Amino acid sequence: MLSAIASLLCVTLLGLQAGALPVDDFSVTSQKFLSGEVPAGFSINLDEERLVQFSEDETPVWMTEREKIRAKALGRKFFDITDTPTFMPAPASLAALKAYPKVNKQGLVKPVIANLTVDGMITNLQKFTSFRTRYYRSETGKQSQQWLVQRIGEITEQYASTDLADLITITEFTHPWGQNSVILRIKGASEEATAQNGTVLIGAHQDSANMIPFLPAPGADDDGSGSVTILEAYRGLLASNYTPVQDVEFHWYSAEEGGLLGSQAVASTYAQRGINIHSMIQLDMTAWVKKGTREEIGIVTDYVDADLTQFIRTLVDAYCSIPSVDTQCGYACSDHASWSKVGYRSAFAIESTFENSDKNVHSTNDRLDISPEFDFNHMLEFSKLTVGYIVETAGWAK
Ligand SMILES: [Zn+2]
Repeated sequence: MLSAIASLLCVTLLGLQAGALPVDDFSVTSQKFLSGEVPAGFSINLDEERLVQFSEDETPVWMTEREKIRAKALGRKFFDITDTPTFMPAPASLAALKAYPKVNKQGLVKPVIANLTVDGMITNLQKFTSFRTRYYRSETGKQSQQWLVQRIGEITEQYASTDLADLITITEFTHPWGQNSVILRIKGASEEATAQNGTVLIGAHQDSANMIPFLPAPGADDDGSGSVTILEAYRGLLASNYTPVQDVEFHWYSAEEGGLLGSQAVASTYAQRGINIHSMIQLDMTAWVKKGTREEIGIVTDYVDADLTQFIRTLVDAYCSIPSVDTQCGYACSDHASWSKVGYRSAFAIESTFENSDKNVHSTNDRLDISPEFDFNHMLEFSKLTVGYIVETAGWAK
């Protein structure tokens, strides 16, 4: 029953985006749905006032959580800045221009990427999508986050040497809504290099959301795919006994779908603490290859750091077996935006051009078995990119 409603809503919304149906069709249906009681297993106050920013040059506006959800369902992108209305930017010295290295560590990177496989990604994503929803204000969203922490622990135990394991910490960055962001750090061999050149960050978001948040949301592509893509890169690095020179962190953010809430909390805390960040790359949706299109790595060019973006293109050329293609994603498109907002350099790679990306997102159809267009080998290309990015920027202490 619930899925039937979801599919109906999805069809309605897609029609809407294509301009086929009047806006009110969706608004009325969703309004009805959201005016009812909050079901068990969700902790949300739909009448709570939230402060939301829709673009750089617009003043943030107050709206209810219900109105925010509807705005998102209608395709609008935003920061929810209720918890971070003002923020302290990272010290200018840390946000200063950093030179990106020439790609020159092929001898180190290629053996690692040769050992990456889709096997772990398949089993990890099957489990991750089995939670009814990973919505950040749901019980199952909390459970999926706890599973993720446990899975990272198991991989660490299985693949890290004793020396390497001593350098690894898995931390939950606590949020008030229940599902925490997860931060995995491999401490670099040189504290001096970390202080000087900064920590290297790779991110994805662990939460999922249906347009109506109470409906199931497997979130296979958005962003289960990015979440298990970086996990496979981590496994591959451990299996190769990789020790970075500078600190490396893998971040799985909570509440991206609520308006980049988790990443804003993490990024503003890092900025406040004056932590030096080398660069941050976000992977949000890495699985979809639209039928009839060329397989590519989408490189987002708006609201990103241009030099870092150019560096990603060179990484794709060096380490991926498919070409890159430029695309645009808009304001507040994913968690990298939270890092650039506080002054750090960030960029974003996605499965294809935005136009050719998976249109099943935010519905019950965001499943890994929905179509052969959902391609684990495509995801593997992003794991290779992740390994290349980390080794080239954070170095390899031998
Ligand atoms: Zn996403």
